[in-house]
Amino acid sequence: MASDESEKYDETCIFCLIAKNQDKETEVIKQNEELVCFRDICPAAPHHYLVIPREHIHSCRSLSREHIHLVERMTSMGTAVLKEQGITNMEEVRLGFHQPPFISVGHLHLHVLAPVRKISTCFEYKFTPETDSFVTVESLRKKLLKTAPPAGIRCNFGKCFGLS
Ligand SMILES: [Zn+2]
Ligand SMILES: [Zn+2]
Repeated sequence: MASDESEKYDETCIFCLIAKNQDKETEVIKQNEELVCFRDICPAAPHHYLVIPREHIHSCRSLSREHIHLVERMTSMGTAVLKEQGITNMEEVRLGFHQPPFISVGHLHLHVLAPVRKISTCFEYKFTPETDSFVTVESLRKKLLKTAPPAGIRCNFGKCFGLS
């Protein structure tokens, strides 16, 4: 697996650095072998966390049906962190992904915000469900279900865009 490692890691990517615990500014709240959770540097609500995979995946548009379980695991880590902070009412929680070109960092990250009614009005537009910019976990799941089953070749190398 050692040779795979470098291809899944982008040294210019701040979230890859965080995933490797190499960013001193960022306090990791929760992590496991696959995922890392930390506070959004620019919080739009009293609770605003990001969950990222350690693997460098560009965005939700890079995902297909085979990633549904990854998205589910990211969601459970996000809700677990909220529970630890005393937030258990899921109606108070907004979970979703920014879609390109509306992404700030080109490394897949799940936004976990709560409580919904306290999302700052100046940032609301960035987190409004089912807009061009923001897609909720539930609708991403539906989109991924419609994607074709994985082809023989996996696309880990960023070579897959229009280079056929
Ligand atoms: Zn990255
Ligand atoms: Zn984002």
